[in-house]
Amino acid sequence: MTRKIELIGGGPAGLYAARLLKLRDPGLQVTVHERLSGAAETFGFGVGLTESTMRNLAVADPTTAEQVRAASHAGHDLCLKGHDATVTLHGARNLAIGRATLLEILGAAATEMGVEIRRGSEIDAAQLDADVVIAADGVRSRTREKYAAELGVHSSPGRTRFVWCGADFAVESAFFAAAQRGEDLFVLHAYPYGDDRSTFLIEVDDLTWQSAGLRAFDARTPIGETDHASVALLEGVFAAELRGRRLLTNRTRWGRFTNLTLERWSTGNVVLLGDAAHTAHYTLGSGTKLALEDAIALAEALAGESSIAAALAAYEAVRRPPVERFKKLAHRSQAWWDTYRLRVGLPAERLALSYMTRSGNLTLTDYAAEQLASARRALAWLGDAVPDSAADLDEWVLSRPLAAPGLTLPTRLLTRDHLSATTAVREVAWSEPDVWGEPADALIAALARSGSLPVLLSGPATTEAVAARIDLGERLRLEGERPVGVFLGGDGDRAAAATAVAAARADFVVTT
Ligand SMILES: Cc1cc2nc3c(=O)[nH]c(=O)nc-3n(C[C@H](O)[C@H](O)[C@H](O)COP(=O)(O)OP(=O)(O)OC[C@H]3O[C@@H](n4cnc5c(N)ncnc54)[C@H](O)[C@@H]3O)c2cc1C
Repeated sequence: MTRKIELIGGGPAGLYAARLLKLRDPGLQVTVHERLSGAAETFGFGVGLTESTMRNLAVADPTTAEQVRAASHAGHDLCLKGHDATVTLHGARNLAIGRATLLEILGAAATEMGVEIRRGSEIDAAQLDADVVIAADGVRSRTREKYAAELGVHSSPGRTRFVWCGADFAVESAFFAAAQRGEDLFVLHAYPYGDDRSTFLIEVDDLTWQSAGLRAFDARTPIGETDHASVALLEGVFAAELRGRRLLTNRTRWGRFTNLTLERWSTGNVVLLGDAAHTAHYTLGSGTKLALEDAIALAEALAGESSIAAALAAYEAVRRPPVERFKKLAHRSQAWWDTYRLRVGLPAERLALSYMTRSGNLTLTDYAAEQLASARRALAWLGDAVPDSAADLDEWVLSRPLAAPGLTLPTRLLTRDHLSATTAVREVAWSEPDVWGEPADALIAALARSGSLPVLLSGPATTEAVAARIDLGERLRLEGERPVGVFLGGDGDRAAAATAVAAARADFVVTT
């Protein structure tokens, strides 16, 4: 039915979609338009891919999956370097590949199937005459801008700034580290993606932006003095981690992450995928994964449906739920990293537990099942005799007594009736996911003026609302002195309750 497909953007989404389209239907005429003249010109260094992504790629196209795996750097641990110790978060299950290498593999695989790749010019969707136009033109998509009204675009900038650099050696394991110099705080995410290559991604908050003098940088001007000054500064800050070597740069500039959501991913015969359609914060390491999985679903929908409209609707119906799920996890991960300054003084073991449970997809027991010794040390602040079995930790945490200013409780999990019979609390309704924005600032300011009663954050028992309250609970605990309880609703998810207390997001948890 569909004969001619034109794609704008030769990133992972565009190249992979083009290859899969021809694989499913060799009769199609498929062209990719990429503004850069070669993969080597692209931005960025290594990207991480998980085993579950690799399984999905292997099902969709075993040949390219094999090639991607063969070119990846695999089997390194992930560690957190805290101020007092280094903690292994999980062992040897990481996979990372250079972005340029990934594009070379996908570009060659597309060409081999008969896809035409036209490089070197910037394309406007209106120039193209095709049955379907696929916009895979990335986070700054001009196609999305052009059809913004039809697509319903919601976009907001991240709170911190990041810069994506590299190094010409392989760090032994992926790691996070922070460097503090007076007011300045630099957060490093480093991982190897080749025998002689690593990604060095550095984040700073607005305070550091001002105090370290980085604000002289201007994103509107061509790469110049201020970029070189930033890189030189970072080389000094992370000299030990860099083993005294230089940072590599590659169209490297300070930027804020763009949080992007579209109400619709297509209009007429134009369909968006990958970063053009949605973003998920890079600290979840899933943007390329989502882009590649979008490509799989779109190629299948276009091959399987009787009309273009039905195919584009089927693609969106398949992809929206997993994309939304990742976006929610990524939103919480982003908020955690954006506010790293507040946790930087935590002992490394506690920081590691907080990190691993930040998005809500891992519980205390999940973490302890892999890193029992670290998890046990992280819990020592809750009392002596931490159990030596991961399976017993939840009940142990929930059975801890609480003795805090203005509040004494026999255990950390209690019913609403029990709480109201024994204790006066200030109950505050909350269910908004953004716990660091102006409404939360106003709530915290109002609480500060209203005495020192313990706070109970209450509201609907939906997953999102409970997650929001747990995150606000953490903020209140980080910024204030008073005890904070979180209403979970229902019978209470004991794993979630124990994780919230263990990771210092709530002093106590309340069920119906
Ligand atoms: C700092 C950082 C770290 C990241 N780390 C990871 C990670 O570890 N794991 C992971 O999975 N993801 C990671 N990502 C996310 C990942 O880079 C993106 O999600 C992914 O590249 C999206 O692929 P895409 O094909 O949709 O868009 P892109 O990769 O941006 O590709 C878009 C392509 O379109 C081209 N283009 C744009 N406009 C036009 C036009 N008008 N005409 C012609 N060509 C055009 C561009 O040149 C580009 O080649 C990271 C992102 C950042 C910023």
